[in-house]
Amino acid sequence: MKPRLRFAPSPSGYLHIGGARTALFNWLWARQQGGTFVLRVEDTDQERSSLESVRAILDAFRWLGLDWDEGPEVGGPYGPYFQSERKELYREATERLIREGKAYRCYCTKEELDRAREELKAKNPKAAFVYPGTCRERRDEPDLPFVVRFKTPREGSTDFVDRVFGTIRTPNAAQQDFVLVRTDGYPLYNLAATIDDHEMNITLVARARDHIGNTPQQILLYRAFGWEPPEFAHLPMMLSPKGEKLSKRHASVSVQDYRDRGYPPMGVLNYIVRFGWSLGDQEIFSLKELIENFSWDRVNKSDGKFDEKKFADVAFEHLKREDLMPLPEYAERVRPFLEKRGLTNVPEERLRAAIPGIRERARTFVDAAHDLDYYFRDPPELDEKARAKFLTREAAAHLAGLRDALAGVEPWEAAALEAKTKEWAEAKGLTMKDFAQAARVALTGRSASPPLFEVMAVLGREQTLARLARGTELAG
Ligand code: GLU
Ligand code: ZN
Repeated sequence: MKPRLRFAPSPSGYLHIGGARTALFNWLWARQQGGTFVLRVEDTDQERSSLESVRAILDAFRWLGLDWDEGPEVGGPYGPYFQSERKELYREATERLIREGKAYRCYCTKEELDRAREELKAKNPKAAFVYPGTCRERRDEPDLPFVVRFKTPREGSTDFVDRVFGTIRTPNAAQQDFVLVRTDGYPLYNLAATIDDHEMNITLVARARDHIGNTPQQILLYRAFGWEPPEFAHLPMMLSPKGEKLSKRHASVSVQDYRDRGYPPMGVLNYIVRFGWSLGDQEIFSLKELIENFSWDRVNKSDGKFDEKKFADVAFEHLKREDLMPLPEYAERVRPFLEKRGLTNVPEERLRAAIPGIRERARTFVDAAHDLDYYFRDPPELDEKARAKFLTREAAAHLAGLRDALAGVEPWEAAALEAKTKEWAEAKGLTMKDFAQAARVALTGRSASPPLFEVMAVLGREQTLARLARGTELAG
């Protein structure tokens, strides 16, 4: 059977990069095995969920290039894929458990439970409060608010084989009669997730290790319903450098932040895949390599620590290398960052010509847009320091001479431009040092840029001549 996997975000914000890592593992396995990747929105908590957040999460998935076969927008045979639209299902299932004596209504009030908790604390400050099962055998049905609790067996244990952590045995006595449905009818996570994973035919549930304590409760539910549980794989955590749960106090944790900071999506995927998975000591992967090589055997148990510098280095590698990001894709991805700088209508041809000269150094698309700016801004922004230093009265004459010398060069290519410039300089008794920086400032507005003749070639004849002329004026 082809595997069916899912990622089940609670839409109360953005897509956390830890969540993206979990989604990625599920997605890679689905893609490698020709299985199905389902997105399910766990939005029963109306107060914390929002459609905006759903949209943000879907956008992040699209940006990462992780497509989903079933879920919001695309639908599918097991829908609806929003838990808020599946409440009837949870209600019926809960009724069934109550009818069969596997769950019960608990009328204990918060005050009563708090009091019991206080009493226990007074007797034994260290003991954890466990619901004592007060309403287990209650037969009356008073017209009072209630929660629904699962009747956890008092004996035996609940065991499962985790694909990463191996056999996990939990004595049932260690589990309390956990709540399935709140007083307001709101189904809790363990109930809704179990029903949906079953109804959606999920074959393998892979999620972060912080859910490992929920799994025995979910397995108890599968058994109570008479369903076969899926397989489970729990994944190590992405921690802060100090070993705490990674949060925005430590670093940017939303996928969108990295997009906005100009990281390439594959750089993000490549960095996060290493949290829990490795292939020898290979650092850099293409998506194809990840799909081909991903396997649960290579998922390890140890948590990883987030390293901002490493992340930046991995992302840069994906920007720099043409084999990882072909030129047309680079051009397409850098465009919005140019637009943010007010550079709209950037001609594709000149953009593609300019990128090879800057991609060796630009660590993000934000840097790249900065480095490309003068190719598309006319006139280029002028660095005043560079102007004062290089656009001197003496330089004015050189720039004018150079402009005239280059006006008729054929073809307008770096080699021909260089040959012509050298010929002109020799005739004037000049060396490159006498005028190159002035020419650079005239052409780019800056004192640093890719090699001069490459800049000219990209700018084209008209722009080059116009900028040299303008430089002459500014210098004179
Ligand atoms: N909505 C849960 C979460 O975001 C899903 C956990 C699971 O994958 O079962 O943590
Ligand atoms: Zn009770």
